[in-house]
Amino acid sequence: MPIKAIKGMNDILPEEAELWQWVESEMHRIFGLFHYREIRTPVVESLEVFARSLGSSTSIVEKEMYSFEDRQGKKIVLRPEGTASVMRAYIENHYDQQDPLARLYYHGPMYRYERPQKGRYRQFHQIGVEVIGSEAPMIDAELIHMADYFFKSLGIDDLELEINSLGCMVCRPEFTDKLIAYLTEYKADLCEDCIRRLGKNPLRILDCKQEKCQAVASEAPSIQEFLCQNCEEHFDDVLEGIGRFGSSYAVNTGIVRGLDYYQRTAFEFTTQHLGAQNAVAGGGRYDGLVRLMGGPHMPGVGFAIGVERLVSLLKEKSLTKTDQGSLVFMAAIGTAAGNKAVKLVSELRKQGIRVEMSYDGKGLKSLMKRSDRIGARYTLILGSDELDKGVLAIRDMQEQSQVELPLDDFSSVVTHIQGG
Ligand code: ATP
Ligand code: MG
Repeated sequence: MPIKAIKGMNDILPEEAELWQWVESEMHRIFGLFHYREIRTPVVESLEVFARSLGSSTSIVEKEMYSFEDRQGKKIVLRPEGTASVMRAYIENHYDQQDPLARLYYHGPMYRYERPQKGRYRQFHQIGVEVIGSEAPMIDAELIHMADYFFKSLGIDDLELEINSLGCMVCRPEFTDKLIAYLTEYKADLCEDCIRRLGKNPLRILDCKQEKCQAVASEAPSIQEFLCQNCEEHFDDVLEGIGRFGSSYAVNTGIVRGLDYYQRTAFEFTTQHLGAQNAVAGGGRYDGLVRLMGGPHMPGVGFAIGVERLVSLLKEKSLTKTDQGSLVFMAAIGTAAGNKAVKLVSELRKQGIRVEMSYDGKGLKSLMKRSDRIGARYTLILGSDELDKGVLAIRDMQEQSQVELPLDDFSSVVTHIQGG
């Protein structure tokens, strides 16, 4: 029996990894343009980090957590999400003293014990952003716009931004009461999980994936009608800010976040292209979280993007990075040519040109096959004939044409390749 990967955990093979690298390089570039700075935290945390922050009735804590005891019986988990880890690191390192308005981002694997299906895995990856230290609605708007800008930089321009306000500790209780009253009326139509949530976290019912629960949720009272004046103004200013940055949105009062710590702004970026797993990113404001985790009172807001879902979208739309420069294949035949070619390819790489070379002494025919297979734009051919004449043959694999350039005229070789 061949050894297999753990269920719900995927290999990312080179063809796909190229897309991941592209996504990550755009992440660094775009977030860098807004002066967000990267933070890296461990994949493993102590259980308390999530038990305290996420809320006991969230599906993550109820049933999705990968938790273990280490050799000394300490309870540890593979992180299910990034926000709580970032807050733990922020508090532990007293980062508020270094930067009272911290704009942070992270990326990496997350672990949830979910039923694996398309777009839902047990190891998946997130790219996330957290801004800690400001309640200003423009901060919400900035980071939402930044996500939008990031997606567009990858060529994805048809995501829908759905946004809502969840109110705050002042106005949410009244809404929650009304919601419970409504949901209790339709209790018989809810799934088992939601019946349990009714007592603990009724808001989550609005987020249930079950069709019958969604039907009940669609007629539920709207939080928008219960927002206090502060929350209403905050929400209006966020929307106005998003518009000012040039991004568009749709208010959807059904958007709630799965985690307890959210208040006020909540949003998702959704797509029509990925079936049931339609949320590519989700986020919102969590003003009480830093405090809840034992830190100073610091408001915060953030989002997380599901990278697997993002990469599926890129594949679906056949989007790839375009400006990688030509790939070159060096076909050297014979020992003398091979020796010369090694020097040549080293020089080409110094010029930033991507080159693959073969060292197995095969004939021209099989070398040309290899060049085709890797999709090289040019094949450089150096055999004994070329060596005798002091030339390098450059075959354009697209045009099916060939030129010879003097072997010692390196700069015209480079110009020829880069011109193409
Ligand atoms: P969902 O409603 O799809 O379960 P969620 O509310 O649990 O999502 P968040 O915790 O907000 O998701 O995570 C943000 C993003 O991470 C999601 O929008 C999604 O793109 C991605 N994501 C979450 N869970 C998974 C998973 N198990 N596999 C792949 N991607 C995931
Ligand atoms: Mg989930």
